[in-house]
Amino acid sequence: MTLALDVGNSHHALRLETAVALVNAVTGENRGGVPEHLTEAEVGLLAGLAVDLRAVIEALVSGDHDAAAEVLNRLLADSEARPRLLREEAGQWHLAFHDAEADVVRRWTAGFAVAFAAVLGDDSVQRLGCCAAPRCDRVFVDGSQGRTRRFCGVTCQNRVKAAAYRRRGKAVEVR
Ligand SMILES: [Zn+2]
Repeated sequence: MTLALDVGNSHHALRLETAVALVNAVTGENRGGVPEHLTEAEVGLLAGLAVDLRAVIEALVSGDHDAAAEVLNRLLADSEARPRLLREEAGQWHLAFHDAEADVVRRWTAGFAVAFAAVLGDDSVQRLGCCAAPRCDRVFVDGSQGRTRRFCGVTCQNRVKAAAYRRRGKAVEVR
């Protein structure tokens, strides 16, 4: 799926998607799954980072950009994130935010922190969301055009629709 993010950088968009999947895999009431681009072992190593990223996303969704910025500045400092060009095995250069020797935690921390820092200052921050269904705290990136997404997925959407339908049905019976 291609996301129509306004980030202006497909790498950032990909990192946000991976970050959200990591947060849902490791934290919250409905955790589980292994995100694309990560191995199970890496998910284990990144558990602490997932907790920080949930704090960032929840702060951004509630409009508390100061709290998000504080966590992000710490992650940027801890991971020593700064841009540099690294040569891939195929010989091509690509923009990275970690040095070539960085371990998996520093690599992903730097990449995620830069991606969230990039959206914090612009409109695409509104694409981050927390599921509106009861008993679900999964987070998501809204790729829809109108930014109308409210649920983490169709399961929650259908659950809420069915509950509303049942409520309406009862209301009709009462009348
Ligand atoms: Zn949900």
